[in-house]
Amino acid sequence: METKNSNGSRSYEHDIIGWFEDISENAGQVQTETLRRILELNWGVEYLDKWFGDIDVRDMDSSSLESLYTSFVPLASHADLEPYISRIADGDTAPLLTQKPIKLLSLRIPMSNGLHLAYFNISWDTLSSGTTEGRQKYVPFTDHSARTTLQIFSLAAAYRSRVYPTREGGRILEFIYSSKQFKTKGGLTVGTATTHYYASEEFKIKQEKTKCFTCSPPEVISGGDYKQSTYCHLLLGLYFCDQVEFITSTFAYSIVQAFREFEGVWREICDDIRQGTLGERITSPKMRKAVLAIISPNPSLASRIEESCTALEILNWLGLIAKLWPNAKYVYSIMTGSMQPYSNKLRHYAGGLALVSADYGSTESWIGANVDPYLPPEDVTFAVIPTFSYFEFMPLYRENRDCSSIIDDFIEDEPVPLSKVKVGQEYEIVLTTFTGLYRCRLGDVVEVAGFHRGTPKLNFICRRKLILTINIDKNTEKDLQLVVEKGSQVLTSKGGAELVDFTSHAEVENHQGHYIIYWEIKGEAEDGILSECCNEMDSSFADHGYVVSRKTNSIGPLELCVVKIGTFKKILDYFIGNGSALSQFKTPRCTSNQEILKILNGSTIKRLFSTAYGY
Ligand code: AMP
Repeated sequence: METKNSNGSRSYEHDIIGWFEDISENAGQVQTETLRRILELNWGVEYLDKWFGDIDVRDMDSSSLESLYTSFVPLASHADLEPYISRIADGDTAPLLTQKPIKLLSLRIPMSNGLHLAYFNISWDTLSSGTTEGRQKYVPFTDHSARTTLQIFSLAAAYRSRVYPTREGGRILEFIYSSKQFKTKGGLTVGTATTHYYASEEFKIKQEKTKCFTCSPPEVISGGDYKQSTYCHLLLGLYFCDQVEFITSTFAYSIVQAFREFEGVWREICDDIRQGTLGERITSPKMRKAVLAIISPNPSLASRIEESCTALEILNWLGLIAKLWPNAKYVYSIMTGSMQPYSNKLRHYAGGLALVSADYGSTESWIGANVDPYLPPEDVTFAVIPTFSYFEFMPLYRENRDCSSIIDDFIEDEPVPLSKVKVGQEYEIVLTTFTGLYRCRLGDVVEVAGFHRGTPKLNFICRRKLILTINIDKNTEKDLQLVVEKGSQVLTSKGGAELVDFTSHAEVENHQGHYIIYWEIKGEAEDGILSECCNEMDSSFADHGYVVSRKTNSIGPLELCVVKIGTFKKILDYFIGNGSALSQFKTPRCTSNQEILKILNGSTIKRLFSTAYGY
């Protein structure tokens, strides 16, 4: 589906779509050349020398180089590359992973359970915020990272504007947040990948290229306190409400979180707009100065917003976005994977406005763009951009689930290049990047849904290793998500309450072991309804290992713990305190982190046990 851009031809949109269509046509060949460029640029670095030794590959043709590379360089996990990254962090300037010196490191905070941490060889116990003491997962960030971020954002914007044309010179309400930054022993700056991007020239260029400007000044984005930044984003978004063309965040969680906050602070925001002031809650001098320089008293706008909010409050904020931002064309954010549970709430707030699911990438590399923005989030796929990195795809199979060990959540096969992927097959992505990662496993499971010209379109399935398991049972993040969705349908339809967030834990301390699912809910639900939700979830786990274990009582009844309102915000605060940023936050769906379990168990107000299997 395409509609004409009402602004006439924007040549950059035309150019960037043309560029992408060309490279996707011959994606396999482009990949072979991309690998060659990566290797040429970084030839002679210590890591590659270790595997290639004295072999001189420079005169070799690109396909032979590709086969040689994949046979000589082994698959790696982040733990294998960590010694090199640590040396870079400590100030070793020798060419270890890249020929060009690395000056920035991105922090990737693992928000998953103990199993996953073991996989990456990172210990939460040693993780400390803003210091060089912790063993956080560092990932190199280079000019290439910022450039590809600009490229994918411009590309996706060009596809979106074919379907949802926006006005030039309009504004974007962006719920974006930088993390705290700190220096390593060797003087490198560390922050989340998005933090580096917001501080880069490319972020400014993007606004100029797309002719859409974010409502908030840099002081709000990098304010350091997400609660104050959220208030200012909302205030400025409303101050410019008639100019806002779309509303966005990196992950959907941030938008939902911001509007939940809005429900409590809208009166204060209206007062500030009326008087051109900022309430006492904004204590950051830089943020205050920057926001006060933008706003001036606007009593008529404040009254209009107040009137709308009074009506919206009665409707439980249904259609808040469409009502308060009358010219917004869509809401744009990552809504797939672990963000999928927030899409109902987002839809509620959006009130009929289109939800466009954003692109697929990670701190390590951008991967694919949503080139079909008219599709609902449930159906979105990501067309791989073959110039960004060299991508390999490790086939994953789910057979023999009963007899594989805990670590073997899937049976793996040899990785294949992009040109050899098959529709319907699941894969783990393996990355070779311009930033010095060589055959590094990303840990994401994707499925090939089809092709955009010659490049695969991927469905995001889930993170690997994020599994609930006790003995022969194995449940992925996706399995858990489906189960919780069924349980929460009972809660909404029969209990009239709403699931705010959830996580889980495999309790193995007792000999029998059982799953615990933690729910934060808004509204009152009777115990009878909650018991029904608990039973529904227990009986919805379809994994054969789980069903057999429950029938034989070798796994105990599923436990549903209802936690106090605000508990999941404490979890967010815990991660932010450890160096994460709201922009990249994902609620851990399964945890064995003792600190998080302490927060959850300390906030539990109701415990229910399933009777679905009679035990
Ligand atoms: P981070 O490095 O913190 O940005 O997290 C990257 C991870 O977020 C990826 O490895 C995925 O697991 C997840 N992710 C990123 N983009 C998407 C997307 N469009 N859909 C689903 N999950 C995503």
